[in-house]
Amino acid sequence: MDCGRKIQLLLRSPLRRACRPGEQRGAIMISESLVRKISQLKKQRNAVILAHNYQLLDVQRIADFTGDSLALARRAADIEADVIVFCGVHFMAETAKLVNPSRCVLEPDPAAGCPMANMINARQLREAREEHPGALVVCYVNSTAEVKALSDICCTSGNAVEVVRGLPADRPVLFVPDQSLGDWVARQLDREIILWPGYCPTHHRITEGDIRELKQAHPGAIVLVHPECTRPVVDAADRVASTAGIIDFVTNSDATEFIIGTELGLVERLAADLPAKKLYHAAPFADCPNMKLVTIEKILWSLEDMVHEVTIPPDIADPARKAIERMLAVGK
Ligand code: 13P
Ligand code: SF4
Repeated sequence: MDCGRKIQLLLRSPLRRACRPGEQRGAIMISESLVRKISQLKKQRNAVILAHNYQLLDVQRIADFTGDSLALARRAADIEADVIVFCGVHFMAETAKLVNPSRCVLEPDPAAGCPMANMINARQLREAREEHPGALVVCYVNSTAEVKALSDICCTSGNAVEVVRGLPADRPVLFVPDQSLGDWVARQLDREIILWPGYCPTHHRITEGDIRELKQAHPGAIVLVHPECTRPVVDAADRVASTAGIIDFVTNSDATEFIIGTELGLVERLAADLPAKKLYHAAPFADCPNMKLVTIEKILWSLEDMVHEVTIPPDIADPARKAIERMLAVGK
């Protein structure tokens, strides 16, 4: 680690205890010169840094824009800078490349994949389409470009209900790959949906028992969960929302206590931004290891060496882009 003056970022405890002002789980030391080098390279390369709400707090702090998958896709489409450094998981960087193909999209760590996105491949989706002829395929953005290319429309957790509501009522819907999000959408719309058995290993670590225990300990707290959680967890919640939806709700609510059923990075960010609120993370192991592969050092190396560039073959990119563009047109 560089020996320059250190900036301390204090992380509050996420572990099932309220994150109170002054409380500290540990300290991340970021070298000021590292941050300065990144900022110089950003200018030199004409680059912009985008980060998902689950990224490490110091990565979120250094980003030019943070958001949920939908906001990041919309922001990426508008970027005029030559280079986008995408801090998230692979499908998110791929989506940025699809919506803005003339930019150079870099991933600080190419190993940061999403296990759920790999729970269906192109061959499996082709077979499922044959099994359900006439079905419209709605593909959660947490999927590979190959799968998007075989889908009719994409969705994110922030717009899935709206996307499916806009589809003709007389056509069956095949929803891939997240069974939990698909189940939640089906119940919101009272519509039958064919579900693919994919799931998020991180969100499925949160149990109904975790929520029940926390509710008993903090009866006044509002329970907010992500729709990737299992049905019993979703049913135990007061509100189900995307990561941006959870952040907006906690930020704008007059309430002061919240139980949050989603990934740790979001809880740490809220705790740092809103020290007066008491936040209880639903389960200590809801920490996505892939999201945490991106570090400040890897962002620097990525800009120094202009690695790792996202490329998508045109025969996949063109149809995959159409599925995303159809989604982005919903609600406009
Ligand atoms: P959001 O679109 O809500 O940010 O969620 C993305 C994700 O990967 C959740 O696990
Ligand atoms: Fe994928 Fe789950 Fe990690 Fe989101 S939290 S990136 S769905 S593994």
